[in-house]
Amino acid sequence: MIRPDRVVRTVCPYCGVGCNLDLHVKDGLIYRVTAPFDSPVNRGNLCVKGRFGYDFIFHPERITTPMARRYLLEDDPGTLTRRWRERHRAPELGAASLQARRNGATVHPTPWDWVETDWDTALDIVADHLVRIYHRDGPDAMAAYGSAKALNEDNYVLQKMIRALFRTNNIDHCTRLCHAGSVAALQLSLGTSAMSNTAAQVKQADVLLVTGSNTSENHPIIALQIKEAVRKHGTRLIVADPRRIELVDFAEIWLPLRPGTNVPLFSAMAHVIVKENLVNWDFVRTRTECFEEYVQSLEKFTPEYAEGICGVPAEDIRRAARLYATARNGMIMWGMGISQLSTGTASALTLVHLALLTGHIGRDGTGLNPLRGQNNVQGSSDVGVMPFHYPGYMRVDREENARQWEQLWNVEPGGLSRKLGLTTTEILSHAHEGGVRALFIMGENPMMSEPNLEKTRHHLEQLEFLVVQDLFLNETGVYADVFLPAASFAEKDGTFTNTDRRVQRVRAALPPHGQSRPDWQIVCDLAKRIEARLGRRVSAGWDYTHPEQILREMAQVNTDYAGITYERIEKVGLQYPVPTLDHPGTPTLFTETFPRGRGRFVPVDYVPVAEPPDDEYPLTLTTGRVLEHWHGGTLTRHSLIDELYPEPWLEIHPVDAELLGIREGDPIRVESRRGKVVVRAHVTEKTTPGVVFLSMHFAEAAANLLTNDVLDPQAKIPEFKACAVRIERASEAELPRVDVVVHRGRY
Ligand code: SF4
Repeated sequence: MIRPDRVVRTVCPYCGVGCNLDLHVKDGLIYRVTAPFDSPVNRGNLCVKGRFGYDFIFHPERITTPMARRYLLEDDPGTLTRRWRERHRAPELGAASLQARRNGATVHPTPWDWVETDWDTALDIVADHLVRIYHRDGPDAMAAYGSAKALNEDNYVLQKMIRALFRTNNIDHCTRLCHAGSVAALQLSLGTSAMSNTAAQVKQADVLLVTGSNTSENHPIIALQIKEAVRKHGTRLIVADPRRIELVDFAEIWLPLRPGTNVPLFSAMAHVIVKENLVNWDFVRTRTECFEEYVQSLEKFTPEYAEGICGVPAEDIRRAARLYATARNGMIMWGMGISQLSTGTASALTLVHLALLTGHIGRDGTGLNPLRGQNNVQGSSDVGVMPFHYPGYMRVDREENARQWEQLWNVEPGGLSRKLGLTTTEILSHAHEGGVRALFIMGENPMMSEPNLEKTRHHLEQLEFLVVQDLFLNETGVYADVFLPAASFAEKDGTFTNTDRRVQRVRAALPPHGQSRPDWQIVCDLAKRIEARLGRRVSAGWDYTHPEQILREMAQVNTDYAGITYERIEKVGLQYPVPTLDHPGTPTLFTETFPRGRGRFVPVDYVPVAEPPDDEYPLTLTTGRVLEHWHGGTLTRHSLIDELYPEPWLEIHPVDAELLGIREGDPIRVESRRGKVVVRAHVTEKTTPGVVFLSMHFAEAAANLLTNDVLDPQAKIPEFKACAVRIERASEAELPRVDVVVHRGRY
């Protein structure tokens, strides 16, 4: 039995559940991870990623020294324009030569070689070029991506740098790609956007509706709580999902809707609730508005009409509506099957309507609960890494909000931009002359996470200057001009905010690997250099000696976090809003009122997915995650758990497989109007006829080469969950060589 030198309590770096981990450290290595039983989040449980997926920290391919392209260190800046125009010819050339040099080979130097350098040189290069572009093209030419994997403190200083120094709101992060539709709907109807309740309250719900969420694979510990609630506490489960996910085995009713048909399904449930007088009239009268207009809009959504669109039997829709409406406590949880659509906002609104009609909100065991994906996507949004909001969801185009932040940061009155910034997808599509010229990416990988990757690649190539700050030189990093190595979650102190608004302590178990540094320190050092070059001083400053100072600075204006100190969350996190230093936190929102006053019914109509199946592309592709991997795979594919699920599989229903002559394990070509990939077929009844599923983790068969980049008009979220594809048999030789692609792709 190994005795650890120390055991450090921290938070899992993968999903939004926010499980607490105990990292067992011996001789500078984490050799074991256990789960504390006294954590109210996971109570001794972890999924495979939290338990075993931490060894990426020590992976030999991790970049731990700052790097710049050779031409940036040697050339006259006047040649830059010519250099970046050359980029598209060989973006991975420098990466290949870095790998070759590491293997001891002699490499003929090219301008695109990566050259390892020191921090001062790297940060001076970045500051010089960002300021050069800013002076030449102004604020609209500048943009940044924050990171839902980074700390609240990392993200706060990044948005402060972009707003206070470059005077633009062009900053966003992957919330745009996961729950932007939910955020827009909840803001519109209630005036806020986080989960209203706590996941653990599921045992107090007598009916739970789970939709668009393969919870067992995406939020496994919440799935455990759901299963326990069903088995031990009598919670009755309704699952609405196109796939026969594991939770269906625990459900009383399964509604297998066609992808992208949420609006008719849930509007039909609302129709039944109104027609059968199952409405909570007291709640509707006292807590809501715009009911009459909304009820008129429901008229056409009969269960039979919905059945014709979504394929769910009308009688099952009636049963589900009655079960949810007559519950004492009805709870709704949803995932990206609701939000990742061009109708993501409308889809989420239909769920909000169900809660408002029945009054299933504002009490324990009820509520509207979008399960947030990344470990800190909630926190990154809270601290203002969004183009429309300062920290605390304060609109940037409201004068009184801007003034408060100007005062805090000592920016001259009117100095901060009142113009809404660009979203992630828009930042890239504006990457052209006269648009965005410089992009700073902290811990995101758009070359895996954006839809329609060929277009994304083209946009990245148009940038004049790209900085990537990350752990690995991933699919986006190969396009960068400068790479800044960041510390991992286990090497820094700070906070993450989980899906149910719990702000928790992240603690360093190890010093940063090599020369890597915590993101907030890198950003602050860079900001000081930019400030000096701009001759612009932000008196709130960048001289933080501890991340808690950053959180406390933000909490002066973002009152949701006003009562949160590191001392108060030393043992157990606090769920915001925490408005004062003696406030106990808020596990359940909306007990008396909604942030906008009354909850608003917003009539919605059914709009089909942008690309329905047709004769040419007869199947619908839907995408998502698998248990063993995480997002673009930057972390899990550098972990031993990659061996549990080493290659991509396309799930296809036996009926479709037979029609196409495809058997289990056959290589198949999957083609959409935007691209194609070759993978093996997994013939399974987990998917439904006409629908195929591909996970998003594998660079060698990237699902997002196929997906549609059409956007939801309000939330600007792409339609990842439905596009038309065709499938045909391929040869073994066409399958990507995983061993080659994975390792080449990392450099
Ligand atoms: Fe980590 Fe999420 Fe798994 Fe918990 S459920 S261990 S937070 S990945």
